[in-house]
Amino acid sequence: MLDGKVALITGAASGIGAGTARRFAQEGARVILADVQDGEGQQVLDEITGGGGQALYVHCDVSDADSVREAVETGVREFGRLDIVFANAGINGVWAPIDELQPEEWDQTIAINLRGTYLTVHFAVPHLKRAGGGSIIVTSSVNGNRTFSSPGASAYSTSKAGQVAFTRMIALELGRDGIRCNAVCPGLIHTNIEERTEHRDTEKLGIEVELPEGSPALNEGEGEPVDVADTCLFLASDLSRHVSGVEIYVDGGASLL
Ligand code: NAD
Repeated sequence: MLDGKVALITGAASGIGAGTARRFAQEGARVILADVQDGEGQQVLDEITGGGGQALYVHCDVSDADSVREAVETGVREFGRLDIVFANAGINGVWAPIDELQPEEWDQTIAINLRGTYLTVHFAVPHLKRAGGGSIIVTSSVNGNRTFSSPGASAYSTSKAGQVAFTRMIALELGRDGIRCNAVCPGLIHTNIEERTEHRDTEKLGIEVELPEGSPALNEGEGEPVDVADTCLFLASDLSRHVSGVEIYVDGGASLL
């Protein structure tokens, strides 16, 4: 479905990014894997190329403009074009009561999740225009859009809501260039993100959240990276040629109640 296409994926060393990189490569795309975890990124690269796919790993800190510019240029130099951008890198960061969440903790979450999305798109768009169009996909979340059930996650939820607004704005701006822009909003997905999350004093907020009995959630509420990857494949491919400016919830229905 993606023969001849080149895809840039940020946060490609783990979880949803790695799963989507494998899926895109299976469908014939050449994939630029961008991340800060070089060892893990190399493993994903080896796996894809070992299976006959084409990919390249580049070190890229999405919160740093020079780093993103360099990663995009390196990828385009190697593969000659760019058609698909998956702005997916993200962190949960620190979850803490608002009067305890420190300014630098707020800034870090916003810098990676929101500024990182802007920087990735900013440096990629000239190449998409040169290719005559393309598809941009942003990983947002149910959190901050459909659900507000993570006590202490004010910075994270704000960044995820901001990503949806950003996606709609760029869809408006880039439509005439043949560039479609959409967001995926995962629910709970089985990845490593929780390992790098700091929950500090959130119990003080006294908010307990559990899936209600009779919840419509499939698979006990948790999905796998491949569930998001398949949705991204739809958004990256011509199957979604008339779809732009939307967000798709990939949460097994968990956020309906
Ligand atoms: P993950 O931790 O497994 O993968 C995230 C990747 O992003 C990691 O490889 C990490 O190194 C990379 N990354 C972090 N900071 C970076 C930076 N500054 N520059 C470049 N790369 C960086 O987590 P995941 O669950 O696969 O998360 C991917 C995206 O999905 C995130 O945007 C996250 O907010 C979103 N999301 C995840 C879930 C979930 O339940 N897992 C739910 C909703 C949304």
